[in-house]
Amino acid sequence: MKNPGISRKDFLRNSVLGAAGMAIGSGFLNSAQASAFETNTAINSTTGKNYTLKNVKLETGFEYENGEVLHTKTGLFCIEISDGKIKSVLPNKPNSEAIDAKGLLMLPAFRDMHIHLDKTFYDDWQAVKRRTGGVKGMIALEQQILPEMLQTSTQKAEKLIGLLQSHGTSFARGHVNIEPTSKLQSLKNLQTALENKKKTFGTELVAFPQHGVFYTDSVPYLKEAAKMDIDFIGGLDPFSIDGAIEKTIDFTVQLALDNKKGIDIHLHESGDSGLKTVQYLIDKVNENPNLKGKTFLSHCFVLGKLEKAKQEEIAEKLAAAQVGIVSTIPFGGLIMPIPTLMQRGVTVMTGNDSIIDHWNTFGTGSVLQKANLAAQLYGQVTEFNLSRMLKLATAGSIPLDDKGIQQWPKAGDAADLVLIDASCSAEAVSRMSPVRSLIHNGNIVY
Ligand SMILES: [Zn+2]
Repeated sequence: MKNPGISRKDFLRNSVLGAAGMAIGSGFLNSAQASAFETNTAINSTTGKNYTLKNVKLETGFEYENGEVLHTKTGLFCIEISDGKIKSVLPNKPNSEAIDAKGLLMLPAFRDMHIHLDKTFYDDWQAVKRRTGGVKGMIALEQQILPEMLQTSTQKAEKLIGLLQSHGTSFARGHVNIEPTSKLQSLKNLQTALENKKKTFGTELVAFPQHGVFYTDSVPYLKEAAKMDIDFIGGLDPFSIDGAIEKTIDFTVQLALDNKKGIDIHLHESGDSGLKTVQYLIDKVNENPNLKGKTFLSHCFVLGKLEKAKQEEIAEKLAAAQVGIVSTIPFGGLIMPIPTLMQRGVTVMTGNDSIIDHWNTFGTGSVLQKANLAAQLYGQVTEFNLSRMLKLATAGSIPLDDKGIQQWPKAGDAADLVLIDASCSAEAVSRMSPVRSLIHNGNIVY
């Protein structure tokens, strides 16, 4: 195994439902575990379309001392799962025949909201080479290396999905290269991988003009992709790559409107052009309210460069237009104002972006690690604040609301969940607790 952190042996040993499944003699979990990791074998159709978990720990409220959250209260329950949904949350019956979750904490499955599943070397190690020419230099590099990467991109995507699953992620927003070098091949190769993984992994895709919309003529390919099974129209630094903010954003917005898609634009530009792009996009969304709640800026580094007052002003505008920010939680040279964005009501999500590729090799595959990073970076150390940071790993859904009222799980919620070796969300975030089991759409992945 090239990656000892997620060897198949560990994976199976850690899988609590695997052990339970074998104990009750159903036999299906063996194949399910294997398929989650190594093969594309669809999970046996008997895999628990209807089953019950017992001894499931759920968060039930906060315990206060002098007005501060001191502890998170929990209890053990039975969870009935039926046809991909949580059918009911029932009092625990420890002696029942149900599958034993052994007191592990149940949380919503994790969601990686910015990743490039179509372009990865994983799990072959290859460090990033010295760069020249900024993003345009990287475009020139991609024009050279993509034809070869496309030869194996289906298998690589499946391996990468296996890594994400091993960290409790069962859903990703994948940006897929659409440009004149790959044409639509990157998308088609990824769609094959996703089809093979569809029982255990969900996605939404962004048609991503990595080589610029107009800098290389990606327009015909984007128009074609927009008619295919994708969810968002992407973008890349309109000013520095295409040389025009309005022309590129207008094209992107129109393509999204014509095809009823969302928008998710990579914006690395800081300074004037970055800020103008943010403001122009907000204006366009306000003019076209259909795009509210469906429009995102990935990275959006310019927000980290603004004065505090300006950050707050832009955060309010983003919140009002329901434009979300997707951040990899950068640190070092640039710190994003993520707490300010959250406080102002902006949807903030995170993702690994790169796992091992020619851009970056630091993605672990865990979004719980991103939530932990954010908690450290922004000093979110209390029980309450740590528990709020879990939103970054789940793309929003957490068990308790700010008042400690249980809001997840509820009957009818998707059966997308993890069982994690932690006493509460705050501990899970702070300790990056190990995920012992993943269930996607009611299917036991491991
Ligand atoms: Zn990206």
